[in-house]
Amino acid sequence: MNDLLKRLAGLTGSTPVLVAAYDGFDRLRYANAAFRSAFFIDEREEPLWSEIMRRNFSARRGTVIRAPDFEEWLVGTQSRRGKLGFRAFETDLHDGRWLWMTETVEADGWMLCIASDVTSLRPDERTVRQDRDFAIKASFTDELTGIANRRFVSGRIEEMMEAAEPGRPAGCVALIDLDHFKVINDRFGHATGDAILKDFARRIQTQVRRTDCFGRFGGEEFVLVLPHTGLEQGVLILERMASLIRMTRPLPDRPDLAYTFSAGVTAAEAGDSPASLFARADAALYAAKLAGRDRIRIWRSDDTQIAS
Ligand code: GH3
Ligand code: MG
Ligand code: MG
Repeated sequence: MNDLLKRLAGLTGSTPVLVAAYDGFDRLRYANAAFRSAFFIDEREEPLWSEIMRRNFSARRGTVIRAPDFEEWLVGTQSRRGKLGFRAFETDLHDGRWLWMTETVEADGWMLCIASDVTSLRPDERTVRQDRDFAIKASFTDELTGIANRRFVSGRIEEMMEAAEPGRPAGCVALIDLDHFKVINDRFGHATGDAILKDFARRIQTQVRRTDCFGRFGGEEFVLVLPHTGLEQGVLILERMASLIRMTRPLPDRPDLAYTFSAGVTAAEAGDSPASLFARADAALYAAKLAGRDRIRIWRSDDTQIAS
């Protein structure tokens, strides 16, 4: 085995193919020489993926990022990155190279990333392929906040249900709704309302694990999917998010402006679909609103009666 590992290390060291592995926290845990040189990573350095992208963006090297605001781009990309078992796409580097990149993700969030140089491969069809990739991305993205949309989140719930095993929680789903948002819009204006929605998406996105999925449902409603997470743990995660948001002052020039959210959570059970989970989480959310807002409620069978 040791000989084989040495052999593999030798081969990955000399291949021009880029090879890397990230752990569930998106920290680079392995990268061969070709990968380190393309993304300017020193030997033995283990940066987070976001750190690699951020420093290369400011130095105008590595991946070409066509977005005026890097942090906004980062939130949107992180909301979808590593959430699919397998993904393949084309990407271009500042040095002029085009890469065909594949990402393979294990259930615990570890990701294998392999990229080959396809610079000389059918450059005439490149725009068509990139347009197609952009269109696919747009169909899964919420336009205002850049995070995943309802369609993308529903797909992750279906995968969560397929991966459910007996004796282990399948996961839970939470609907999150910002409190008194109409009042915020009326008092501060719609543009400020939009800025708060973006602030919320960005802050929560930094709190979710790679295996979780966070998206915007529409309006001031968001959804959080926590696979393999029990209800109690799910509530703890949401409580932590609620205290973070409570302390947030989203606009630097308005230190008086604060906001809160209410959430309804439900555990996934055998036979659930995105629709049945959303309906129960919504009933629990309604109960949280009735109980005074700024709180998390677990779905109970009598919530449906309150809601109707
Ligand atoms: P509650 O605490 O019961 O949730 O009260 P609320 O005012 O948040 O609830 P309601 O659903 O009555 O109002 C939601 C408001 O959110 C109404 C709408 O103007 C605002 N809203 C929805 N989408 C957007 C958006 O994209 N941008 C902005 N700025 N406001 C939005
Ligand atoms: Mg609402
Ligand atoms: Mg609301």
